[in-house]
Amino acid sequence: MKKMNIGVLALQGSFSEHMAALSRLGVRAQKVRLPHHLANVDGLIIPGGESTTIGKLAVDFGLLDELKAFGRSQPVWGTCAGAIFLSKDAQRQQPLLSLMDITVERNAFGRQIASFETDIDFPALSRVSANQTPFHAIFIRAPLIESVEKGAEVLATLPDGRIVAAQQDHLLATAFHPELTEDDRVHRYFLFMVEKALEA
Ligand code: GLN
Repeated sequence: MKKMNIGVLALQGSFSEHMAALSRLGVRAQKVRLPHHLANVDGLIIPGGESTTIGKLAVDFGLLDELKAFGRSQPVWGTCAGAIFLSKDAQRQQPLLSLMDITVERNAFGRQIASFETDIDFPALSRVSANQTPFHAIFIRAPLIESVEKGAEVLATLPDGRIVAAQQDHLLATAFHPELTEDDRVHRYFLFMVEKALEA
C-alpha cells in the first residue's frame, strides 16, 4: 500500500499539536499553507483555533477554492474551529468550505464557561482500537453540531444528546480537541478513513 502523507492546515491554531500526534503515530505529515502544498497529501486535518481567522487567512493565501476542491474527493477532518470551517452553515457570515451537511453553533457553551472536559461515548472508535473506554474530550470555546443533514451522520454526543462528532463519507468533524490528549484513537480513526480512500 502507498505510504500515506497527511497535510495539516497550518494557518492558525493547534496545528503543531496535530503534527506531534501524527508523528507519535509514525505517520508522515506536512504543513499546508499554500495551494501547492496540497499536491501530495492524501488527507487533511484542519485544527482548532479561530474559524473566522482561519477562513480569512485561507482566502488571503488563495487556498479557499483549493481546499474545497480537495475536500470534495479526499478525506478532511476538522477539529473545533476546523469543524466550523468544514460546515455548510455556521449561522453567521464568514468564509466556509461548505463541504459537510452540518449546521454548527459557534461558542455554543458561552464565554464564561468557555472550556471543559468530559468523557464521551464514541462507538466508531471500536473500528480502530480494542480500547472500549469513553473518549476524554476537551472542549475549548467549542461549537456544537446543531444538526446533521443529508448524508451526514452523528458519531458522538454529550450525555444529554447534543452532537459533538459527525461524519459524512470521507469528511469528519469533531467539536473537541483530540490533539490535546494522549489518546490517539480519533487520529487513528481518521487515518483509517484515509486508508479506505486510498484503497478505493
Ligand atoms: N471559538 C472558536 C470559533 O468559533 C473555536 C474554538 C476552538 O477551535 N477551540 O472559531
